[in-house]
Amino acid sequence: MMIEKSEVGILEKLVELPGVPGREGQVADFIRSSLPSICDCRIDHLGNLIVHVGGKGKRVMLVAHMDEVGFIVQRILDNGFLKIERMGGTSIRALPGSRLSLWTSKGCLPAVAGVLPQHLDSKEFISDFSRVFIDVGTFSKEETLALGVSPGDVLTWNSPLKTLGKSLVCGKALDDRLGCYCLMQLARNVKPEELACDLYLTFSVQEESILIGSVAAINAVEPEVLIGVDGTFAFDTPDLQGQQSDIRLGSGPAVKWMDAIRGKLAAFVPNQALTNLVCETAQKRNIPLQDEISIGMSTAATSVIYVKNGARACAISIPIRYHHTPVEMADLRDIENTIALLRGLLTIDL
Ligand SMILES: [Zn+2]
Repeated sequence: MMIEKSEVGILEKLVELPGVPGREGQVADFIRSSLPSICDCRIDHLGNLIVHVGGKGKRVMLVAHMDEVGFIVQRILDNGFLKIERMGGTSIRALPGSRLSLWTSKGCLPAVAGVLPQHLDSKEFISDFSRVFIDVGTFSKEETLALGVSPGDVLTWNSPLKTLGKSLVCGKALDDRLGCYCLMQLARNVKPEELACDLYLTFSVQEESILIGSVAAINAVEPEVLIGVDGTFAFDTPDLQGQQSDIRLGSGPAVKWMDAIRGKLAAFVPNQALTNLVCETAQKRNIPLQDEISIGMSTAATSVIYVKNGARACAISIPIRYHHTPVEMADLRDIENTIALLRGLLTIDL
């Protein structure tokens, strides 16, 4: 089964909304407005959106993060250009020459990241972030200020969602709005009577900046079982083939066995019995599943380490190419299969 056209429309809207860490309000509002009115929703002081679906059994919580990587305006130069800082692990390689959206108190402005013409480029490729500048089409600081721009305003990639080939989608913030989309679909389609658990869906904040924005939400719900839903690296492009894993687009979601950012005190080893149940459920339901051991990333599921009583946790990942760039790419079939797998898990005693 393929995701229908109207559904791609929801996905388009979801990924195009701005939501850098700490500014996820528009995303939360959109998700909340798309949920059935019977859902019990609340937003905590940090901005985490917690949806209680209900059902009988263990308290099970699914978490996907709403925030995306982006930039923040640091200062306005005398000639009108902007200097910026990264919010989260935004790709510097993808920045020069990119179109951006600048979110000011007066609204959204188009902007571009300056790039050296090839003619003038010596051997030194811009890898030094301090040399990056943003062009908003003005000639002076006064003119930029008059547009409503001020330090603290944020920028996101300007990259509307496009479909490619038969089943791929490409755009910004697929990490982790695809996870949010899966949770939204569950909220819209599962009925509490069919669940073998008491289900909470959490759309969390500040994963890309500090990783543990979901801690408050997990402490509030106190789940017995936590399931993270986020993106993972695909290694099916010519530059990455054969490295770390064989994860590829279109071959199903991946079940996480471990992830880590070396040297950052961020590593996650899921509960083994729970992870085995994920594998069994996929097998029983004929859902393709890949194995994930990722080095260089962490997700909101890592938060489980920091919560009061802990919880048994596992994680399901959606393969994504070109993480943290304006051209993140994923396969709609993997999204469908992730939803099917989650739905299967919620009908068994975890
Ligand atoms: Zn993510």
